[in-house]
Amino acid sequence: MCGIVGYTGYKKAHSIILNGLERLEYRGYDSCGIALPGKKAIKVEKQLGFVEGLKTKKQYSGFYGIGHTRWATVGKPTVENAHPFTDCSGNIAIVHNGDIDNFISIREKLMNEGHQFSSDTDSEIIAHLIESYDTHTLPESVAKAISELNGSYALAVLSQHTNQLVVARQSSPLVIGIGNNEQYIASDVPAIAEKTSNVIFLEDGDIALLSPEKPEILHNEVPIQRSVHNIPWVSHELGKAGYKHHFLKEVHEQPRVLRDTMSGRISNVTPGVSRHPSLIKHKNPDNIFISACGSAYHAALIGKHFWSNFTSSSINVEIASEIDSLKNVNESDWGIFISQSGETADTITAAGIAKNAGYTTIGLTNTPNSSLTRLVESSIETKATPPETSVGASKTFISQVMELYLLALSSSPVPVNQLYSLLNELRSLSEKAQRTLAMKSTFEEAGKWLAKYDNSYLIAKGINYPVALEGALKLKELAYLHAEAFPAGELKHGPFAMLTESTPVIAIVPDDSHQPRMLTAIKEIKSRGAPIIAITNGDISTISPIADIAINVPSSDSMFMPIINTIALQLIAYYCADTRECPIDRPRNLAKSVTVH
Ligand code: GLU
Repeated sequence: MCGIVGYTGYKKAHSIILNGLERLEYRGYDSCGIALPGKKAIKVEKQLGFVEGLKTKKQYSGFYGIGHTRWATVGKPTVENAHPFTDCSGNIAIVHNGDIDNFISIREKLMNEGHQFSSDTDSEIIAHLIESYDTHTLPESVAKAISELNGSYALAVLSQHTNQLVVARQSSPLVIGIGNNEQYIASDVPAIAEKTSNVIFLEDGDIALLSPEKPEILHNEVPIQRSVHNIPWVSHELGKAGYKHHFLKEVHEQPRVLRDTMSGRISNVTPGVSRHPSLIKHKNPDNIFISACGSAYHAALIGKHFWSNFTSSSINVEIASEIDSLKNVNESDWGIFISQSGETADTITAAGIAKNAGYTTIGLTNTPNSSLTRLVESSIETKATPPETSVGASKTFISQVMELYLLALSSSPVPVNQLYSLLNELRSLSEKAQRTLAMKSTFEEAGKWLAKYDNSYLIAKGINYPVALEGALKLKELAYLHAEAFPAGELKHGPFAMLTESTPVIAIVPDDSHQPRMLTAIKEIKSRGAPIIAITNGDISTISPIADIAINVPSSDSMFMPIINTIALQLIAYYCADTRECPIDRPRNLAKSVTVH
């Protein structure tokens, strides 16, 4: 996924680049590095882990440079594999985000020519390839080099001999920040937003030459003007506000996120939900296709369950990375693509395929001006502000679920009586979420209890099954506790073989039509000796005798219980992770924005 930052101007580049990299750590934190011009050759500093460590290393003077924070895709996360990479002469350094599919053959060719490699990455070949095309201008050499590459790249190239940076993009994001006699380059706006609010989003196939005075952009070797967007700097509260971890803080922000998402959308006069302004131009969909990855995929599944109650349209949900092609449809079919960062490579690819297939494409993202926003026809910005810092999603997930509730209610013929009661329930959800958060000691007890096990299972039915999937994901991400979620009825078709006294099962037992079968499932589990945590908004007295820990959460309409149950599972996972002393906000091997396939 990686984050790239570059600067050229008349200020000291080192600290500007490090500050930018820190703001891109959500894209990966396996290693980081920086390159600036030296007296004779480019100077490079690299290290494993966070940018904080790089701050303690030698600070180079110099008015231009590049930096990188890595999420390894090719080659282990080691210092040798950390970017930037230089060519043999030390006159060129590069940073790269993406994957070069044909790097092995290029590397072999370059090695036969005598180039020496110091890493196992795909990225390093780019520096040597540029060196091998020693034309009289750097942009020309870079253009020749990238014409050989298959795959994805956002690339920044530094030369020892000139203060001009060369950058290029193909299927990985890159943004230019325009300052006063200074230019910035970054993978994403937050890295440079404090420095300038004027940005240009490069398009696939663009190469740009950045001098302090201006950027010059070429597309297919022809100069091109790209629009300059004004993105005002919004200062976000980036601290933990007294919480031990960002994750816990973000979980506690969820009642406000629910309120903000509903604000101005629910009518009190005639019961109704107004369509999001960006969707007003579209008529109700004939068919609906929703696609996403990770937590956003779980939100999509909840949305499907909910929406299916009110529409005769078919609703299909697919994991974005599984979409290779889609049949042609007509434009009254909606394709909805969900990604908190708006940069999820798999989701963007899927949205592109859907656009070509004729769908009206709609993006649901927490990041305005993201690649997804710019690709789709209509975009809904979720209200999970400020953006999440913790890698595990919490408030963005809740905001996606709430947006999907509103989208369904504003695009389907819901009977008035039912709509009236649903809206009443929606209005009280924020307060119920708050009451769920107030049950801290209950979740803490459950999380501590769970922390002693190595494997766990979650079961649920219907609209709560995706909640179980999300809970299992949180336990894996935050607590490194192996967790698998099943529809309750599926246990007896195989997973039962895994149940022992050492495999706790977390059961979501809502007070709805599924309750009798959930109770049957719990009894079957109990008779196999597996410990049980049961979460219910129903009568606790029916559950307490069969569960090791029975948790009574606030009650809402059965279709909105996913919000409450998710919060319960987030907190159980959090306290389990805290007991196990896990790095909750930055789990190993993960990154917040998944910009590679
Ligand atoms: N393929 C490069 C590496 O492994 C860049 C990875 C990325 O952009 O995530 O270092």
